[in-house]
Amino acid sequence: MQYNVVEHPLYGKIRVKVNPRARRIILRAREGFIEVTLPPGVTRKAFDAAVDKYGAKLWALSRATTLEVIDGTYKYESERFCFCLSEGEKRDFFIRYDGFRATFIYPQNTDFHSEEMQQWLRRVRVTALRRVASENLPRRLDYLSRRFNFCYNGVSLSDSHSRWGSCSSRGNISLSIYLQLLPEHLADYVMLHELCHTVEMNHSPRFWELMDNVTDGKSKQLRHELKSYRTSF
Ligand SMILES: [Zn+2]
Repeated sequence: MQYNVVEHPLYGKIRVKVNPRARRIILRAREGFIEVTLPPGVTRKAFDAAVDKYGAKLWALSRATTLEVIDGTYKYESERFCFCLSEGEKRDFFIRYDGFRATFIYPQNTDFHSEEMQQWLRRVRVTALRRVASENLPRRLDYLSRRFNFCYNGVSLSDSHSRWGSCSSRGNISLSIYLQLLPEHLADYVMLHELCHTVEMNHSPRFWELMDNVTDGKSKQLRHELKSYRTSF
C-alpha cells in the first residue's frame, strides 16, 4: 500500500492511501495526524469535501495525542523558512518579517490552548509562509529562466498541498507556497520542471532530455529525492 502525505493548513499532515477494495472515503484519527483511505478514482474535490466535513473532529481526536501545539515556545525552522513566536509589549498580534524569518508577536497573557486559537495560529503560519514565498519564489523563477534561457508569461502562487507547480499552455506558471519549505535544490528542480514545460508541454523523452540539460543530468535523481521528501509543517 502506498501512502502520500498531503499538507493541510488547518490539520497539518494528512496521510492518504488508495485502497482498490475501498468502497467509499474513510477518515481515521491516528496518533497526531488524520489518515484518509480512498477508493480508486476519487476526485480531489470529493477528497477536499470529506476533509472539510470530518476534518475538525478527527483533527481534535488525533491531536489529543501528539500533534504539536503552537504556543510561545513553538519554533518551525527549515533552510528557507522559520516561524517562531515572541511575547511583545503591545496589546495586539502581528508578524515581524526578516528575510526567511517570520516572528509572530503576541501580547502578554495570551492563552494558546483553545482549539480556535490553535487553528488560527496554523492559518497565521500559512499567511507568514505565503508572504515569505511571494518574496522569494518569483524572484528565483526569474533568475532560473534567465540563466537557462526560458521564456514564461507570468507567475502566480497557490496554496496547493498536492501540487508543487504547474504550467499552462500560455506559459503561465503557478508555484505552491510550500516550495518555500523545500531545500533550494528541490525547489529549483520544480521550477525548472515548469520552465521546461514552456518548451515541451508533456513528459516525453524530449522533455526529460531538456530537464537533464538544465540539471547536470540529475533530473531522475532529483525527481526521486523530491518524491521522498517530507516537510514537517
Ligand atoms: Zn510536468
